[in-house]
Amino acid sequence: MTMKQLRNNGLIIDSHVHLRGELIPPDEYASWCRQYSEALGASYKVALIPFCEKWSYYPNRDEVQQGHEILARYLESYPDLFYGWAYVNPADPDFALQEIERWVATGHFIGIKLWVAKKCSESVVVPILQRAAQLRVPVLQHAWDKSTGQLKDESLSMDVALAAQSVPNCSIIMAHLGGFWQRALKAVSPYRNIHVDCSGGWAHAGAIEKAVTLLGSERVLYGSDAPLRDIPTQMSKVFGANIATSDKRKILSENFLRLTAHARRISPNANH
Ligand SMILES: [Zn+2]
Repeated sequence: MTMKQLRNNGLIIDSHVHLRGELIPPDEYASWCRQYSEALGASYKVALIPFCEKWSYYPNRDEVQQGHEILARYLESYPDLFYGWAYVNPADPDFALQEIERWVATGHFIGIKLWVAKKCSESVVVPILQRAAQLRVPVLQHAWDKSTGQLKDESLSMDVALAAQSVPNCSIIMAHLGGFWQRALKAVSPYRNIHVDCSGGWAHAGAIEKAVTLLGSERVLYGSDAPLRDIPTQMSKVFGANIATSDKRKILSENFLRLTAHARRISPNANH
């Protein structure tokens, strides 16, 4: 794909980027956006996931709330470059739903990410998926099929498949192509409400091609997992894939825009 072909589209949205507390201020994320925009000749925007200061897979209410308030300030700083995910703890569904009302139902954030505190196939997660479906926003779900064993409450691709079956009108984005993508993509491909992001991990030859073959290009999203991962390496997965330019455009921004269309329409930020 040439830069000229990309410019026709003009937009790359990195759907999976993490905040790192005080370590990386908003200006630095904005400088990445500008740097990659200039290099690529297309606007590079990022969808940010809040951070909690004391890293835990089981954040308490204060930590979740604080993460959202910090994220809101980042979005205010650069409304033309940043989108935000609500990051809620599925082990505390009452508070998760309160935070979803505060930040997602109001259009401030474009979707919901779930902490690794419950497998997404557990029944406690269902009300969150149902509310996401009502609000017409996507749920970003970490999943990583590992050969070394899972974290206690970490989802496998099979859990994502079960969650998608239990709430078929909820759009779920399985992060990281599910880790061991050769298996994970097959597990989720039958469920039309499952999308995948290609963030994190190595840039394996053939992974994006497999995702497009099994799921269709309209169900694959670009994401980097920065700053845990290096953006150019992650972008090379899509840029270097042996797929049509029209498919790359869908992966690089069009699918994100479609999945978040309702949230962006009701956003108080006119630039979305
Ligand atoms: Zn991540």
